[in-house]
Amino acid sequence: MALEIVGISVLNDNYIWLVHDTVSKETLVVDPAVADAVIHECSRRGWSITQIWNTHWHPDHTGGNADLRAATGCTIVGPAAESDKIPSLDLCVGEGDHLEFGGTRATVIEVPAHTLGHIAFHFPEDAIAFVGDTLFVMGCGRLFEGTADQMFANMRRLAALPEETKIYCAHEYTQLNGRYALTVEPENTTLIARMKKVDAARARGEATVPTTIYLERATNPMMRAESVAEFAKRRRERDNFSAIL
Ligand code: ZN
Ligand code: FE
Repeated sequence: MALEIVGISVLNDNYIWLVHDTVSKETLVVDPAVADAVIHECSRRGWSITQIWNTHWHPDHTGGNADLRAATGCTIVGPAAESDKIPSLDLCVGEGDHLEFGGTRATVIEVPAHTLGHIAFHFPEDAIAFVGDTLFVMGCGRLFEGTADQMFANMRRLAALPEETKIYCAHEYTQLNGRYALTVEPENTTLIARMKKVDAARARGEATVPTTIYLERATNPMMRAESVAEFAKRRRERDNFSAIL
């Protein structure tokens, strides 16, 4: 595979993803919360940034846009439905649009709920997807702008991607999500085993992202909800769960 993917851990729990095409030498930055750490990592690796792709307008996904473009002259791509909230966009995209990057291309999937214009980027040939704050490891994004119906539909849609698809989300929320998941399915042996690995990885300070659609189908209570009502109940419980711990 020509793509090399590197995560940069910034702020409290954000991941900025660098995607480097080792053949064309182009580099894409997904959801730059900040600019400095990205510039530092790219110069250390000798990578030049050619594009930024934003999944949604929140500042912890777009905060580095302006400074990165000023430093590199890169092109900024983001959701058409949020162009009023991301003034730095050069190219606005929506459902079904194709984006060229290096020798490959991605398809835009609209996943409204966390924000109403939220999009994900799926590279079908490379079996990877960048999902921002929609699908997390063993969880999903909060419903800030949209409804449970919408997020439930997003879970169904992402669950239908090929099971080997690697999922890159924008936050390290895995441990708390997993603790909540265990309250929903205390006897799910795949989940129990997964949480042991997650706790060990976090104790070593390692990232738990990316995940795969296969693993999420087996362990994610939001993706495993069988109805909108069940999903909505779990999402509400998870909101309060984070407040308790
Ligand atoms: Zn967000
Ligand atoms: Fe975020």
